[in-house]
Amino acid sequence: MNMESLTTTAATQELQDEIALRCQLSPQTTAQIGPFGFVELEESWGDETTILNTARISTSNRRIQRVADMTQRDHDLLYHLLKHNHGTPFETVYCRWRVIAPIFVLRQWMRHRMGTFNEFSQRYRMPITACYQPDLAARSVDGWPVLTDDQIRRQDALLEQLHRFYQEEYAVACQRMEEAEQQGLIQTSDGEGGRNRYRGRARELLRNIMPVATYSDIYWTVNFRSLMNFLMLRRKPDAQYEIRLYADAVWQLFQQRLPLLSQVMERVLREGAQPS
Ligand SMILES: Cc1cc2nc3c(=O)[nH]c(=O)nc-3n(C[C@H](O)[C@H](O)[C@H](O)COP(=O)(O)OP(=O)(O)OC[C@H]3O[C@@H](n4cnc5c(N)ncnc54)[C@H](O)[C@@H]3O)c2cc1C
Repeated sequence: MNMESLTTTAATQELQDEIALRCQLSPQTTAQIGPFGFVELEESWGDETTILNTARISTSNRRIQRVADMTQRDHDLLYHLLKHNHGTPFETVYCRWRVIAPIFVLRQWMRHRMGTFNEFSQRYRMPITACYQPDLAARSVDGWPVLTDDQIRRQDALLEQLHRFYQEEYAVACQRMEEAEQQGLIQTSDGEGGRNRYRGRARELLRNIMPVATYSDIYWTVNFRSLMNFLMLRRKPDAQYEIRLYADAVWQLFQQRLPLLSQVMERVLREGAQPS
């Protein structure tokens, strides 16, 4: 969708500015996917030594402090553990990702239950007005476009109409609330935390018409074992194109953060092992 065609809400503008700022400040940990999609590896906890030290609780008192101190034996052990599904030490490394993606991508993402999600709320905020628009590559199979330019234009018009409907009806609802308050019929600011529960309820109801092409914004906190499962399933050619783009971006960023673990994971997957 041409994002200029919609009235950009404050939430959308804020996000656009933030994406630009994050990419500028931290190019090593961020990636953009299309005009509005975004991934950032905001934080991580633990590294290859955490995994080895955890595993060694069962066999020895040897502990290592730095990846640079790892010997060939340590490298071999890391590989052996992953290869033979000694899974729990790999649950001690965590990553926290910020992901801005269309809701239909996030629905697939959230099927990965072994992780923690927090999401932008259309109860407390107006929806993000950006919508997913498939480019030529996204709407082609073997180079042949399954949807025409004209179909995409009409789809965009429909999405824009829905967002416009939301904004107009929300404005009408807010106007009615103000008038009712002036007449002493309602008191809008006695909700939890001083929130206006009348506006909140209007947003709760109006969000029902928002299509899954609308972008949303999440935090995903995940351990390495589960991340590996996600990458294995969502980078495969049979995963949907859009989530594959995101999974590829996650993989690129993860490789930069933990290159050794990434290499071991690649090797294990290349050899045909399935994560458990
Ligand atoms: C190409 C593709 C197409 C798909 N199509 C569909 C579809 O049409 N419909 C649909 O509903 N889903 C679909 N899915 C989602 C899929 O079924 C999984 O829910 C999703 O990939 C998450 O995988 P997971 O369960 O391994 O991950 P997680 O939920 O993160 O779980 C990780 C691992 O923990 C263990 N685990 C988690 N929960 C349980 C549990 N309750 N009991 C036992 N073990 C558990 C399993 O070993 C699991 O592999 C699709 C996925 C892909 C990749």
